[in-house]
Amino acid sequence: MAFTTRYEDCSFWLEDAGETLTPRPAMQRSEDVDVAILGGGYTGLWTAYHLLLHNPGLKVAVVEREIAGYGASGRNGGWCSPRFPVSASAMHKRWGADAARSVLLALQSAVDEIRDVSQVESIDTCFRPAGTLTVARGAHQLQALHGAYAAYERLGLADHYRFLSSQEVAERIRITDVHGGLYTPDGASIHPGRLVRGLARAVEARGGVIYEQTAVKAFESGTKARLITDAGELRARKAIVLAGEAYLTQLSKLHRALLPVYSLICLTEPLTPAQWQDIGWQHGENLASTRNTVVYLTRTPDGRILFGSRGAPYAYGSKISDEQDRHNETLQLIQRSLLEWFPSLEGIRFTHGWGGPVGMPMDWTPAVRFDPSSRIAFAGGYTGQGVSTSNLAGQMLAGMIGGYTTGFESLPFAQRRSTSWIPEPLRWLVVRAMQGGYLRIDQAAEAGQRPPLYAPLIEFLGKH
Ligand SMILES: Cc1cc2nc3c(=O)[nH]c(=O)nc-3n(C[C@H](O)[C@H](O)[C@H](O)COP(=O)(O)OP(=O)(O)OC[C@H]3O[C@@H](n4cnc5c(N)ncnc54)[C@H](O)[C@@H]3O)c2cc1C
Repeated sequence: MAFTTRYEDCSFWLEDAGETLTPRPAMQRSEDVDVAILGGGYTGLWTAYHLLLHNPGLKVAVVEREIAGYGASGRNGGWCSPRFPVSASAMHKRWGADAARSVLLALQSAVDEIRDVSQVESIDTCFRPAGTLTVARGAHQLQALHGAYAAYERLGLADHYRFLSSQEVAERIRITDVHGGLYTPDGASIHPGRLVRGLARAVEARGGVIYEQTAVKAFESGTKARLITDAGELRARKAIVLAGEAYLTQLSKLHRALLPVYSLICLTEPLTPAQWQDIGWQHGENLASTRNTVVYLTRTPDGRILFGSRGAPYAYGSKISDEQDRHNETLQLIQRSLLEWFPSLEGIRFTHGWGGPVGMPMDWTPAVRFDPSSRIAFAGGYTGQGVSTSNLAGQMLAGMIGGYTTGFESLPFAQRRSTSWIPEPLRWLVVRAMQGGYLRIDQAAEAGQRPPLYAPLIEFLGKH
């Protein structure tokens, strides 16, 4: 997996991070630390930050194969929301109302924490607490919206959500074919690149060390727990933290722990004041529809539209490559979708297109765990809902490793383990069938056609 692009070209967010992306020094020789962290994304950095905040004397080192923010943390859609990969109704069924509610409230507290730390550490994250608006684009999407509202109601969280008529949505934002919306003031948008780069600096300011351009090739557990690189070993007295999310699948011991699933983004040039006048969206809420093949939109701090959606189809053997970040066919599909939402933007220039892999567990449920006997800690499997979840995970891991309570110990994804993905070639067959199936279900609904005969099977298998 040789990296062939300039780091600035990985995403608009890294290009616009407000600093040159000169890599920090690589690791040169073996070293002993208290906590050795694989991965300089949000998970690794939040864990390091909270460990050091709680115990400034701790020796914490992060090993990053490229640069801090190279992964999904420097490429995402900028939604910092209390959304979780498992829906409210599925959490309710699986864990009960109290546990489901506590997950959603903990995520909202993580959103607040990101805001607060940004202030304390002077990180210019462009935090915009405008909430989230999910619209039903097409009458067929209304049912999912009503279902989501009912689920929040059953959890006693109805006061966080408000159902909007199509007219009320249009007062906020003009999108074609909208039949209603669900709005919550919870959640914010951020500048992902500035958050992750600023967080790396905050970790260093608190005494942490970050080695960049240093790939971990393997790891060992137990009393000799260590991260192994070509330059030497990072031996850990307390814990090694596996915070490489989707990329962990490239290590042989973790090949089937997650599935790398791509999400891709198109970005327009900045809109003119007249174009914004036409569209509305003055508050800059995070915006989505209930499409199965996921659509998320953000108004960027400099006035562009970011439109994100599904990514390159799953590659056999969980392969990750630069080419999948720029899957042309998918990028064109996303550009067309943006113009369907906002036809008045016909002719607008798309300045950036990029993507990246997210880590998806077989049961869609993230895990945050630390086993003191193996000394291995892991957090990930956020399936594209990782901005606030990784903050929460970092707080939880720091507590587990540092031996202090965070109040998040009883969350149902603490200390859990997901089942491994099925082996190839079955994995490729099932994942491709699901990806293609969801797309055809969406396309049929949008064309006013009956769903394909296999739709119930796809929906049953993908229930989360
Ligand atoms: C296109 C896209 C859009 C998204 N949009 C949103 C959104 O709007 N809201 C939201 O909540 N979530 C979103 N997500 C998901 C979110 O960005 C991730 O869940 C989150 O950033 C994961 O953080 P992480 O630190 O666990 O992983 P990453 O950010 O992927 O970091 C892992 C790091 O580990 C490094 N690494 C991996 N293997 C090794 C190794 N062997 N040796 C050394 N280093 C290694 C990688 O280089 C990488 O920097 C999106 C993701 C993508 C790709």
